[in-house]
Amino acid sequence: MNLLNFISQFPDEDSCKLRFKEFRDQVGVSCSKCDSKEHRWIQNKWQYECVKCGNRTTLKSGTALHGSRLPFRYWFIVMHLITSTKKSFSALEIQRQLGHNRYEPVWLMLHKLREVMGKRDEEYQLTDVIELDEGFFSTISTDEEKAKPLKRGRGSQKKSKVLVMVESIPVEGEKTKKGKQRKVGHIRMIVVNDLKAETLKKIVEENIALKSIIDTDNSNSYTKFKDLDIEHRPKIIPKDKVNEMLPWVHIAISNAKRLLLDIHHDIEPQYLQSYLNEFCYKYNRRYFGDKLFDRLLIACVSYKNNN
Ligand SMILES: [Zn+2]
Repeated sequence: MNLLNFISQFPDEDSCKLRFKEFRDQVGVSCSKCDSKEHRWIQNKWQYECVKCGNRTTLKSGTALHGSRLPFRYWFIVMHLITSTKKSFSALEIQRQLGHNRYEPVWLMLHKLREVMGKRDEEYQLTDVIELDEGFFSTISTDEEKAKPLKRGRGSQKKSKVLVMVESIPVEGEKTKKGKQRKVGHIRMIVVNDLKAETLKKIVEENIALKSIIDTDNSNSYTKFKDLDIEHRPKIIPKDKVNEMLPWVHIAISNAKRLLLDIHHDIEPQYLQSYLNEFCYKYNRRYFGDKLFDRLLIACVSYKNNN
């Protein structure tokens, strides 16, 4: 969807609300008081009313937009920007583009969208052949350190550890366009506090399907993979062979770093996962084209807000 299509589909607040409602009706509304799924729509209030108990539910309530006082159209515009470009956007840039006077609600909206994307990806496990390695992403550790001028490599910046998993399917016969013997599938990136064998085993267990094959170097962090129902193929990998032996995991790491560095300076470690969620979500749906907007919208509608 290009900008002109977007504007003609969503010229005003009501057109956004109607689309949101259309998706909510598909997903189904459930009453927060009695759990009933039967509702009638009260048009002049823009609310659902539970047929059983009379409890009213607003359009936003119980979805990713729950509690946000920003107009639907702001959410739609931001979802359009996120899904129609390869870029990421800082909250400050979005705030400027929307001409909104407060930073915080815009920041919250972006982080909520990234949470929605992360939750969506969590629903699937990676399968087949997977390359796995760690990436070290630059983050800023504390407010105190942020205040100091950055000294290169002197500890004012911190490296956050990220476990990166990439489906990397062998291509039989010919090589792919980029000359690789393997084709890339889905990717996943998870921020970890440490690289202990037990920690990484748990993450692999949660994120990778049984019977998959995992290719790694021979680091001690991976020694517990043997306890899992997967095939682990650790190899001694000389530094100059990394790009050949684990091609896609390193491309994924450097692409993610470049994108994050370009847009989000001074990333605090607690928000790194949020940016990675967005990167992976979009990467995993890189062939969706115009459908990506609707997919993200439906993910927002189906998102269960527990507040
Ligand atoms: Zn009810």
